[in-house]
Amino acid sequence: MIILLSNDDGIHSDGIIALENSLQHVGEVYTVAPDREQNSMSHALTLHRPLRVLDMGPRRFAVDGTPTDCVKLALTGLLPVRPDLVVSGINKGPNLGDDIIYSGTVSAAIEGALLGIPAIAVSLVTFENFQFQVAAEFAATLVSRIQERGMPLETLLNVNVPPLPKEQIKGWRLTRQGKRHYSENIVERTDPRGKKYYWIGGDNLGFAHDDGTDCMAVHEGYISVTPLQVDLTNYKLLQESYVPSFNWP
Ligand code: MN
Repeated sequence: MIILLSNDDGIHSDGIIALENSLQHVGEVYTVAPDREQNSMSHALTLHRPLRVLDMGPRRFAVDGTPTDCVKLALTGLLPVRPDLVVSGINKGPNLGDDIIYSGTVSAAIEGALLGIPAIAVSLVTFENFQFQVAAEFAATLVSRIQERGMPLETLLNVNVPPLPKEQIKGWRLTRQGKRHYSENIVERTDPRGKKYYWIGGDNLGFAHDDGTDCMAVHEGYISVTPLQVDLTNYKLLQESYVPSFNWP
């Protein structure tokens, strides 16, 4: 199995190195990742300047671009082979609920799904004392299961691992996307030349305690696995005709 590995924390992150180590037992790993941190880049694509690729050793490439740039580049010419799977992570921090929309980690996986390759995003739910071993081990197990069973087109799995020792993790759950709460915290200050500037904050104010969600599973000590799809169509609205009907023209 050929695996393309990427992330948004950059090629030097301990999170991606942990995945390189665990996934090399499952398949042949190619790493194509940003040359520096690219957090909260969502699905940004670099179109107005060239991209440079630095060869970092056997099957390792650093790109001066976004996570999406990395996956697109890898799958459209940089790699000599077509990967069977795209894996992104392990992210330093959660990608639960609303995080998914802003996440560069998840977007790298979405790009894989868009280009017709099954994908997984893996995140460690903590902002300190990163211990990636458990998440790396779970990712390798999940990848070997996908190797056996396959995955539908245009879907990806969003995995969030609680920061617990293996023996304290209760197992894993298939979940839906939950709802996180952030403070709408914008700092307004004045720069040395007298002009105002703004800094987007957003403290973590917890999450909606809804059963079956990614947030709830991690809160209860389970690894959360959420199947996501690239198709954003609201099928409920489509089926139930919530949009009022009118004649036009
Ligand atoms: Mn990140």
